[in-house]
Amino acid sequence: MVYKVTLIPGDGIGPEVSQAAVRVIEAAGVKIEWDVQEAGEEVMAKYGTPLPQGVLDSIRRNKVALKGPITTPVGTGFRSVNVAIRKELDLYACVRPAKSYPGVRSRYENIDLVVIRENTEDLYAGVEFAKGGPYTRELIDLIYRSGQKVLDPEHAGFSIKSISEFGTRRIVKFAFDYARQNGRKKVTAVTKANILKFTDGLFFEVARQVAKDYPDIQYEERLVDATFMQLVMRPEEFDVLVLPNLYGDICSDLCAGLVGGLGIAPGANIGEHGAVFEAVHGSAPRYKGQNKVNPTAMILTGVLMLRHLGEKEAADRIERAVAEVIREGRYVTYDFKPRRDDPTAVGTREMTDAIIRKLQEVKAHA
Ligand code: NAD
Repeated sequence: MVYKVTLIPGDGIGPEVSQAAVRVIEAAGVKIEWDVQEAGEEVMAKYGTPLPQGVLDSIRRNKVALKGPITTPVGTGFRSVNVAIRKELDLYACVRPAKSYPGVRSRYENIDLVVIRENTEDLYAGVEFAKGGPYTRELIDLIYRSGQKVLDPEHAGFSIKSISEFGTRRIVKFAFDYARQNGRKKVTAVTKANILKFTDGLFFEVARQVAKDYPDIQYEERLVDATFMQLVMRPEEFDVLVLPNLYGDICSDLCAGLVGGLGIAPGANIGEHGAVFEAVHGSAPRYKGQNKVNPTAMILTGVLMLRHLGEKEAADRIERAVAEVIREGRYVTYDFKPRRDDPTAVGTREMTDAIIRKLQEVKAHA
């Protein structure tokens, strides 16, 4: 079978790391026809926008995209190309696995958890009122009626947090389905419901209802502050976490830190009509074109994409090859070395070559 997948190389280090992922996927024998689409800062001059319509059309058509990081342009009216893609395609579920690989310098071993973040609601909806700005009469009345005299709209900004039943139901259902499909045992919903009763309280209420349809998966609710402490103290106790947007954002970076940082953190944004696979890291512009950065996060992102396509065997094989190269520690980039200036560190291309060699060895011994 030949899959058709949109490939967005991105900018900064994007083209280097996405090329690495493409090479490894092809070396694993999966046949993909790549529909290459340009987006990002460097296409502004050509198309007058960092996100040409053709990119969205291509993802809508192919339903699956592999995307390199894209720099957020300053002063174009675009908050972020990455956020715009998620919004336009309603990619409501952000999936970020955090897994320990022996050989990666980290404080912990045996972590294997997945953060599922709601991508569309909460404080990210962009409903904000600037200090001293044109507030509606209703908002001002509401603030004064709440008795919070300290919130004088002339001297305070406001961001509205909103959580809906619909948005919560679909993300929690997604988390349980993900748990089932990936042989996981437990889903932990995380909020600050003891304080934010109408929003986070609603999240728990709906999550509890959804959990009843999944008696085979354990469900628990935890408060975000206690959860983050427990994640630092006993991360191996967690399995699948599901969180509203803001807590999910913070949690996924925290969990990337638990297992060794951005160089190894893959991710996916998934909706009903499409899925965009992208590493957690950004375009790291100062490393652009230097053949220096770690391709692992993007290669593992490719692994997530292959699992989504149903190519489990190839995905498992690539993951084993990546793990083996990291464990051996010989052909790894600077960030996997004890010292950042270690002269034995290899470049992006050389680490990718080593992973491909390992894939071929695995194949030869199979
Ligand atoms: P960044 O992730 O690009 O880089 C931060 C630092 O992390 C780098 O300086 C580097 O030390 C390290 N790093 C990142 N990727 C690495 C890799 N593959 N291997 C080794 N080290 C790596 O974050 P930033 O500097 O905050 O953002 C740069 C640009 O990227 C901004 O314009 C930002 O908006 C954008 N961004 C895009 C995405 C995306 O496309 N999804 C995500 C985050 C940030």
